[in-house]
Amino acid sequence: MSNVPVAVVTGSNKGIGFAIVRALCKQFPGDVYLTARDPGRGQEAVAKLQEEGLHALFHQLDIDDLQSIRALCDFLKEKYGGLNVLVNNAGIAFKVRDTTPFAVQAEVTLKTNFFGTRNVCTELLPLVKPYGKVVNVSSMVSSSALGGCSRELQQKFRSETITEDELVELMTKFVEDTKKSVHEKEGWPNTAYGVSKIGVTVLSRIQARMLNEKRKGDHILLNACCPGWVRTDMAGPKATKSPDEGAETPVYLALLPSDADGPHGQFLSNKTVRTW
Ligand code: NAP
Repeated sequence: MSNVPVAVVTGSNKGIGFAIVRALCKQFPGDVYLTARDPGRGQEAVAKLQEEGLHALFHQLDIDDLQSIRALCDFLKEKYGGLNVLVNNAGIAFKVRDTTPFAVQAEVTLKTNFFGTRNVCTELLPLVKPYGKVVNVSSMVSSSALGGCSRELQQKFRSETITEDELVELMTKFVEDTKKSVHEKEGWPNTAYGVSKIGVTVLSRIQARMLNEKRKGDHILLNACCPGWVRTDMAGPKATKSPDEGAETPVYLALLPSDADGPHGQFLSNKTVRTW
């Protein structure tokens, strides 16, 4: 088994994830795994970094596929006995002009952004070694979507005692409410992406609390963040940040020094803790 530190970035064949891998290749003292659901696209991305003189390793990972997540989990356990840095970056967003029915958009978006990310966490968090870092890439849209929720929902999502099961129930209810076309009446905002990212931010707050309760002595730091508005296939060419600039906050959180006792359980943008 290798004693080399290991970092894993989900959805990193392009966009912000790719830029996170590029930065980690330069700054992380260990093995960096670029992961992608499509091995062809993943290997191509690794080759692109190779041309820049950077060495990333590849492992397949589709966060929608529990088998794929478990295969990565087994690989990390066997080869490294765990992992040191996990960046949950993979995500999807329908374009504004997309005419897919809202209920379908809600189901598909929540499936990857919330449920997929949660499944990765369920399988990989127990493997994170002491002094490890976990970064969940959320979005400022989670904050604006929170503002668009009913007072009752806002209270639930800001609660310091909400459980993961309760959060899962709420995310499931959102999808069901869109199918019945009652989501607005039930206090939800009209954004599937926004609700999925509320899920990611609140999940991060819950996970950080659980680490405090169950693994306090392990000094693991777990946070959610927004990369900013970044020029990728998701956000388009008009966005203000380059992918490398978008990677800055996630990479800052992934490389917090081992003597740092925070941030932990926070939501950050531009390397600054934001009020939730
Ligand atoms: P992007 O260019 O569309 O890249 C998304 C990445 O996620 C791709 O590598 C994609 O792989 C991967 N992915 C999607 N579904 C996956 C799955 N089921 N399993 C594994 N990988 C999957 O988007 P981006 O702008 O870099 O976004 C990265 C993250 O930042 C997302 O979580 C996004 O919500 C967040 N974010 C972006 C912005 C922005 O302005 N760009 C702002 C706020 C937050 P494929 O190539 O196979 O599709």
